[in-house]
Amino acid sequence: MIKVCKFGGTSMATAESINSVANIIASDKDRRFVVVSAAGKRFKSDEKITDILYACHKEAAEIGVCKSFVKVKDRYDTLKKELGLSIDLEPIYNEIEYRITKETLPDYAASRGEYLSALLIAEKLNYEFIDAETIIKFSDDGTFDAEYTNDIASMLLKDKNNAVIPGFYGAMPNGQIRVFSRGGSDVSGAIVARAVNADVYENWTDVNGFMMADPRIVENPKNIKTLSYKELRELAYMGANVLHPESIFPLKAAGIPINIKNTFEPDNKGTMIMPKTNGNGSEVITGIAGTKGFTAIFIEKSMMNNELGFCRKLLSCIEQLGINIEHMPTGIDTTSVVIHDAELEGKLDILLERIEDAVHPDNIEVFKNLALVATVGHGMSYKAGTAGRLFSALAKSKVNIRMIDQGSSELNIIIGVECADYERAIKAIYEEFVK
Ligand code: ASP
Repeated sequence: MIKVCKFGGTSMATAESINSVANIIASDKDRRFVVVSAAGKRFKSDEKITDILYACHKEAAEIGVCKSFVKVKDRYDTLKKELGLSIDLEPIYNEIEYRITKETLPDYAASRGEYLSALLIAEKLNYEFIDAETIIKFSDDGTFDAEYTNDIASMLLKDKNNAVIPGFYGAMPNGQIRVFSRGGSDVSGAIVARAVNADVYENWTDVNGFMMADPRIVENPKNIKTLSYKELRELAYMGANVLHPESIFPLKAAGIPINIKNTFEPDNKGTMIMPKTNGNGSEVITGIAGTKGFTAIFIEKSMMNNELGFCRKLLSCIEQLGINIEHMPTGIDTTSVVIHDAELEGKLDILLERIEDAVHPDNIEVFKNLALVATVGHGMSYKAGTAGRLFSALAKSKVNIRMIDQGSSELNIIIGVECADYERAIKAIYEEFVK
């Protein structure tokens, strides 16, 4: 059996947490491949190493020296000392500092936290260190090259008994370092799990897995015991941020399950994410997630349903302005598009003009300050009346629903509400289905 374990920033933050990591690895001989993040925050007002490294790159570009690098050295020197390790970090620091001042892109600087964490953990565990730049490959245009990576990573890791690999980065064909988006060590872990054909990908973090709702909104929400890949995609995309939303892709083809675990409570079973599930145990819904910051454009035109090419013309206007849409709930004589505010920045007026010219609607209305709330769960399709319960609960809580979009897979019901009603909507749905 092979387990690939990824440990996040809080697991790497202190000597104490790194000792817990070492105990977790030592307690199971199947935990042979370890992927690590840069050291994260030790306390609320602390700085993440990755943030300091981005600042170093900025300073180097602006004033030619990276003043903040001393903070990185301090953190890793302290960890080395407290863990009683012998690795000589001085020449490594010198090289990093020098290269940060030479690189035009921030990626090299940003990646060094993971690099340093992995060197320390490799010595602590007595595992082999394998640099991510040798196994994770990006194309010339900077996009991740999944198939080449898998070929090369499986070849290089095939005969290894164990290894520690830094998360978050890889290299382009010219050797330049490239990072994934923030939180990307989760993706690196998934890539390694695919390459070694792991039986499970354990993603160790500082919470007991996914919760059924955001704990900042619902007090003590229940944990999600099992999630399907598809449910995970829906929840992660809509804001549940325990795991990087792209982590699923490397694991999908091989059907490798993900277990979200808590380094600080290792006996808790956490959340198990499987290719398929029949729902979250006895619960009707699996989880609720949401995000604020959307705008909906409602378009009304009599006989719209008979007008050939109406949707194409409308969508072309949006596409030509390089705008991505989220949802498109449609009626007989009305259609609407829901767009993230960031996509519309500086483009709303020109978009409305172009829609007027292209489809000559009877009426266009714009609703700003929309929040989307997704109620997700395979269990919903087996239970009649779920939608009815959801809408009555929202009505009872006086939440005004501006948009409804039920995914064709019956896996989710997405509603659009005013931002001011967002928290109330999530509480109402949770209370209806979970309490
Ligand atoms: N250290 C990186 C970040 O802070 C990547 C990661 O932790 O996954 O985003």
